[in-house]
Amino acid sequence: MSRIDNLSVNRKLKVLAGIGGAFILLWVTLRLFPPLHLWPLTVVPVIVAAWFFYEAGALVASGGAWLLLFQTPLEKTGAVVIATLTLCLLAFLLGWGQRRQKDVHRKVLRSSLTDALTGLYNYGYFMDSLEREIGRVARYGGAVTLVMFDIDHFKLFNDRFGHQAGNEALKDVAEVLRKEKRESDIVARFGGEEFVLLLPGGEDGGIETAGRIRSAISQIRVPVGGKATAQLTVSAGIATYPASAATKEELLDRVDKLLYYSKNSGRDRISVAPARKRLAVM
Ligand code: GH3
Ligand code: MG
Ligand code: MG
Repeated sequence: MSRIDNLSVNRKLKVLAGIGGAFILLWVTLRLFPPLHLWPLTVVPVIVAAWFFYEAGALVASGGAWLLLFQTPLEKTGAVVIATLTLCLLAFLLGWGQRRQKDVHRKVLRSSLTDALTGLYNYGYFMDSLEREIGRVARYGGAVTLVMFDIDHFKLFNDRFGHQAGNEALKDVAEVLRKEKRESDIVARFGGEEFVLLLPGGEDGGIETAGRIRSAISQIRVPVGGKATAQLTVSAGIATYPASAATKEELLDRVDKLLYYSKNSGRDRISVAPARKRLAVM
């Protein structure tokens, strides 16, 4: 579950607070002014305020309006109708304002977690996720696998086809990652032309997914002017916690070295960390 989705927990608490407040308000109102045959009318704004706009603020404000209106010498039925309409209007205005504020907040949060060019999660979000996943495995067991990809000779690609084509290539690679990852995996742009994939489970799943991604990236054809297109390859390193690394730092260090190894062995390939036990024997 992403951090953005987690916001909804807060929202659920507000719904509960809103409904609780609504019932207290309803009870007080009926005690003070008991036109019992009209009480269903009062439920409408209470539900609108509490559920649809879910803010206790709407209820407090509309409760004030209720009490004020019932102080007036208006005939009771008319007062209840007017109060109901006022409540709906107040709930709507408050809810609308709060919605707008939340949208802005959500946009700011999203842009602080994602990369502007590719739309993937950024380095900061990835590092938080890595820490969280490693903590989870340390507590509850299991494994988590990290794959790091780096586009081969990307400087050359930029020099030959231009920075704009380079940007298009990065977006295409990001699209492949998005398409090939499973629901539970996290993909992020780690740096310039480096991408990471974090998968729950051991290295087998990582090797399979990384292989699929490497092959899909080799199928990308980046338009570079006229009918011409350019191709890309990637190198990758794969390591698993806790089988091949004891800490987050060690895991990052291992994939980095394995990536370097893939580069030095001719690029367009994936290298996998041996398990720690086997390493100790070597
Ligand atoms: P290697 O195969 O060893 O990885 O070689 P490389 O050329 O890919 O690696 P190097 O680190 O020398 O160069 C990375 C290049 O990636 C240089 C930089 O201009 C390019 N790059 C980084 N970020 C961006 C970006 O956002 N857009 C574009 N177009 N290029 C980028
Ligand atoms: Mg690089
Ligand atoms: Mg590179």
